[in-house]
Amino acid sequence: MTKLDQATGDGDHGVNMARGFSEVVKKISDADYQAPGEVFKDAAMTLMSKIGGASGPLYGTAFLRLSTICKDDNPVDLPVFAKALQAATEGIKQRGKAEAGEKTMIDVWEPVSNYFQEATSLDAGKLVETAENAMEATKDLTATKGRAAYFKERSKGAVDPGAASSYYIFSALAEVLKG
Ligand code: ADP
Ligand code: MG
Ligand code: MG
Repeated sequence: MTKLDQATGDGDHGVNMARGFSEVVKKISDADYQAPGEVFKDAAMTLMSKIGGASGPLYGTAFLRLSTICKDDNPVDLPVFAKALQAATEGIKQRGKAEAGEKTMIDVWEPVSNYFQEATSLDAGKLVETAENAMEATKDLTATKGRAAYFKERSKGAVDPGAASSYYIFSALAEVLKG
């Protein structure tokens, strides 16, 4: 992700993500949780405070929305998680003042959210495939938001770093769902 961010940004996305998520792991491994929503909330707070770049508040907003919709449900069922992902995607859009097609993490969150809206049962393979295709499709897009927008047409040809990190997050989710 750092390599990708060197192509179309300032080269820190991999470092930002590694720092933010290792702080999340630290935070949540010391705590005792009753429900996934509580984990999402702590993750959100940690990501917002520990990641300096644009991705911190964006991922922070996404996880905060997940937490708000999942509340204290345990387990979180499929329709609730679908609603949570939709809210998270909307949250990223509002926070970043961006829409799909602008070569950002939204271009992975939106198709994955759409997959969940339509799914009647969960297929981890389909989830990964959806996220991977969405990430790959950002190659052909021209960035109009974030630092990559300074690269204009030159941002074409490389995957968006935030789309790549989002793909990793959803792959991890798929691994967990496989059990
Ligand atoms: P920075 O650009 O501040 O160095 P990062 O490198 O950590 O922050 O994150 C860059 C990623 O954040 C981009 O690849 C893109 O996916 C996402 N991003 C940047 N700006 C926006 C925005 N306005 N809306 C949605 N996502 C964005
Ligand atoms: Mg960067
Ligand atoms: Mg930066």
